[in-house]
Amino acid sequence: MRTDMGKIILTGDRPTGRLHVGHYAGSLRRRVELQNSGDYDKVYIMIADAQALTDNADNPEKVRQNIVEVALDYMACGLDPAKSIIFIQSQIPELCELTMYYMNLVTVSRLQRNPTVKNEIKMRNFEASIPTGFFCYPISQASDITAFKATTVPAGEDQMPMVEQTKEIVHKFNSTYGEVLTDPDILLPDNEACLRLPGIDGKAKMSKSLGNCIYLSEEPEDIKKKVMSMYTDPEHIRIEDPGKIEGNTVFTYLDAFSRPEHFARYCTDYADLEEMKEHYRRGGLGDVKVKKFLNNVMQEELEPIRNRRKEFQKDIPYVYEVLKKGSEAARETAAQTLHEVRDAMKINYF
Ligand code: ATP
Ligand code: MG
Repeated sequence: MRTDMGKIILTGDRPTGRLHVGHYAGSLRRRVELQNSGDYDKVYIMIADAQALTDNADNPEKVRQNIVEVALDYMACGLDPAKSIIFIQSQIPELCELTMYYMNLVTVSRLQRNPTVKNEIKMRNFEASIPTGFFCYPISQASDITAFKATTVPAGEDQMPMVEQTKEIVHKFNSTYGEVLTDPDILLPDNEACLRLPGIDGKAKMSKSLGNCIYLSEEPEDIKKKVMSMYTDPEHIRIEDPGKIEGNTVFTYLDAFSRPEHFARYCTDYADLEEMKEHYRRGGLGDVKVKKFLNNVMQEELEPIRNRRKEFQKDIPYVYEVLKKGSEAARETAAQTLHEVRDAMKINYF
């Protein structure tokens, strides 16, 4: 049994755009809480630029530019470089070497079964021409997680197959070469609405690639426009009609973001969300009123994030300094793990 294990977090995001409220609900909000809880020995937050390149190979400029955008979103939400190691994936070449060795432990048919990747291939119309790097990104994610001996991966539901794949690689590696790697667990949001927050169109999960997002940096007017245009219950036409809560995006967002004190501040007709839902189901509550309430909730949540982001934006060299320091620290740990991996495989020759 390994004795050197602390509680370690590894998680991150692809720099394919600014971060949105889906990221916030699914992972970011939780990360900040965990960071501040003091329960974890190390918190690693990775900006996954190498992974972003697997489906943006022709656009490295987009990936490059979004690194700083994502870092700003992080710090605006309260990720603190004094407590968390924020780093850039491509600056840790050890991760590539680990991926190379792990590839030998995974079959092509196993990769083909990954439901998240299957779905993403469809979304990107990759069917006939999947880049090999994209197809293999779950293996590279296993390298990211294991390089830091992460015990805990706070992420949304779409990441379950990735952590599952990582666990299989860990078991295979450890049983073949000896106990080196740590078996990680995903930490899903405990609020069901946050597992995969839908886009404002109510169709798929909110995703940078689908353009259905409310961004964390969004200006108040744009937040309002997006909330007021949100998908609700298409059969709830007149105010007096009974309405459906299930699949109603506005209520999903209220589940994810509202708290009882919001009612005291913005909608005293109801004591809490349950009462509001009850009225909607019964009939007599219009979409506009619910949306106005949600707008107030979102404005309150996003205002401090937007303001902090603007402050950090004034000093971009500082942001790069944070990323450089974080990458140096992360690289040291990854190199140590790689050394242990090579020892176990008996390929440290000299
Ligand atoms: P892309 O479209 O480039 O894949 P994305 O919007 O899906 O971008 P990722 O960078 O792939 O974002 O995801 C980063 C993290 O945010 C993951 O932990 C993922 O589970 C979580 N996440 C992303 N979108 C959502 C969502 N709509 N609801 C809950 N969690 C989400
Ligand atoms: Mg994604």
